[in-house]
Amino acid sequence: MADCIFCKIANKEIPSSVVYEDEQVIAFKDLEPQAPVHVLVIPKRHIESVAALTADDKALAGHILCEVIPQIAKEQNLDKKGFRVVANTGDEGGQTVKHLHFHVLGGRSMQWPPG
Ligand code: 5GP
Ligand code: ZN
Repeated sequence: MADCIFCKIANKEIPSSVVYEDEQVIAFKDLEPQAPVHVLVIPKRHIESVAALTADDKALAGHILCEVIPQIAKEQNLDKKGFRVVANTGDEGGQTVKHLHFHVLGGRSMQWPPG
């Protein structure tokens, strides 16, 4: 989608520090990390948010949650100690980039509730 920063990252029009990539998904380090490990996992195809997912996206969502994120967690040495997966959704959810993304945060203790 034109003017979408994460589409541009997926298309390599904007550089990023890529930690994982396959045909459907790319994961890269957040520009302003909020934890020692802060990776963003996105579908390459533009989907606005979790709220825009449909039954047609089941395979993609399952791939991200069941395969990509656990693999990244292992590679980043987060799987034993724990980590947090966040998908800010919509304005009140704190979503600033309107292209579906999962934050994978780890390397420090997380607080609850979030702000
Ligand atoms: P949101 O606030 O939408 O949940 O998360 C958007 C995230 O994207 C933020 O953590 C922000 O730091 C990150 N971000 C925004 N622009 C860029 C960029 O150009 N490159 C990278 N690597 N991260 C970005
Ligand atoms: Zn996009």
